[in-house]
Amino acid sequence: MSKVRTRIAPSPTGDPHVGTAYIALFNLCFARQHGGEFILRIEDTDQLRSTRESEQQIFDALRWLGIEWNEGPDVGGPHGPYRQSERGHIYKKYSDELVAKGHAFPCFCSAERLDEVRAAQMANKETPRYDGHCMHMDPAEAQRRVAAGESHVIRMKVPSEGVCVVPDLLRGDVEIPWDRMDMQVLMKADGLPTYFLANVVDDHLMEISHVLRGEEWLPSAPKLIKLYEYFGWEQPKLVYMPLLRNPDKSKLSKRKNPTSITFYERMGFLPQAMLNYLGRMGWSMPDEREKFSLDEMIEHFDITRVSLGGPIFDLEKLSWLNGQWMRELSVEQFAAAAQQWAFNSDYLMQIAPLVQGRVETFSQIAPLASFFFAGAVPLDAALFAHKKLAPDQVRQLLQLILWKLEALRQWEKERITECIQAVVEHLELKLRDAMPLMFAAITGQASSVSVLDAMQILGPDLTRFRLRQALELLGGVSKKENKEWEKLLAQIPA
Ligand code: GLU
Repeated sequence: MSKVRTRIAPSPTGDPHVGTAYIALFNLCFARQHGGEFILRIEDTDQLRSTRESEQQIFDALRWLGIEWNEGPDVGGPHGPYRQSERGHIYKKYSDELVAKGHAFPCFCSAERLDEVRAAQMANKETPRYDGHCMHMDPAEAQRRVAAGESHVIRMKVPSEGVCVVPDLLRGDVEIPWDRMDMQVLMKADGLPTYFLANVVDDHLMEISHVLRGEEWLPSAPKLIKLYEYFGWEQPKLVYMPLLRNPDKSKLSKRKNPTSITFYERMGFLPQAMLNYLGRMGWSMPDEREKFSLDEMIEHFDITRVSLGGPIFDLEKLSWLNGQWMRELSVEQFAAAAQQWAFNSDYLMQIAPLVQGRVETFSQIAPLASFFFAGAVPLDAALFAHKKLAPDQVRQLLQLILWKLEALRQWEKERITECIQAVVEHLELKLRDAMPLMFAAITGQASSVSVLDAMQILGPDLTRFRLRQALELLGGVSKKENKEWEKLLAQIPA
């Protein structure tokens, strides 16, 4: 067998997700077990949603966990660049090749036409998909229009009948009917590739031998398989890893469980325990022991021991395991780890200016600032009773602010203030109407040190976590409210 090379290919469009770490861990173990290499590639072709901040957070979060890669945007390597936005010059050649071979075609359809086709198909209870309009165009005519600079995308052809067999190392052969596949866009009108083209071309050029990716990608596997066939390239071996789930079996989502790796770091979990827990997601040691290190996992790794039932990511179980790890540290290690977590001088230097003017003795610091060293804070429902706002309006305000803060990438006091400002203005309120609620949710107290500074210092994960907890305390948000308030959110300027 040629050299084993695996990869993780995250899109830097949000917080570093535990699902990314989980897939990274299994790719890493698989590669190491076979003496192979593990690569990190950034899939940032979605220019609107990708950010460098998010990319850096992915690097930091994976490194915090102890996951290292042999090649990647920040470490280099022989197959670079490892950022798709820097590989723009590569993809056109491959898309041209597919058009020349007749496997793909330029499509000039306007958004309006596509909407009409879609609406008609939906009305006929058909699966909406591209109707093949431009596929039948005379190639010479298509070339002429492309040369004239007419806006177009490139679409791939797909068979209209039969089934595609997806060979999965865990499931065996999975059959997916071709009539479920759309004529996928490979190149967008802006000249950038979509996930499908870029992913296949890069996995090939980076000599990836095994692709372990999340199960959510299984339905689109036929399109990737077809692309390998069109290019005449060897297809990497495929593993579709089971999705992480909430305790109620639904797909892990931040509405029900914190999903950002940095949340777990801020909550004071040990990275070894976190990695250990991710290793327990659908996988077990041959002797079923619960606590094991990364090295032990690699030593005993066997992909066929992954079980397909959806693994449950359960905060209580994780906390239990973390406790096991904590108790096995020496007292010195425990103290050093706690110090590194939040009892370090960097963190204290951020808090000191806020408390200095408010205390007369050092012994008053802890009661005033304990919320800086907590995960959840004890919340007092009475503090959310508002002079001007009804309870429903209080929940609405908190939810809108939470959503705004979830989208905020530059976590700075000024930006945080702008988010809150935008919401209160839209609701025709004042900043001071929102502040008592912020104090109550973030500090658990009626007043304290500057809450905007506190939010900056606590960071996005704990801030949002506490806002979510406040919402829960006040009765949560119904599905109907969720829908209505999302509409409202869309009207608030960014
Ligand atoms: N960019 C995709 C993601 O965000 C990669 C999926 C794959 O592994 O092919 O997960």
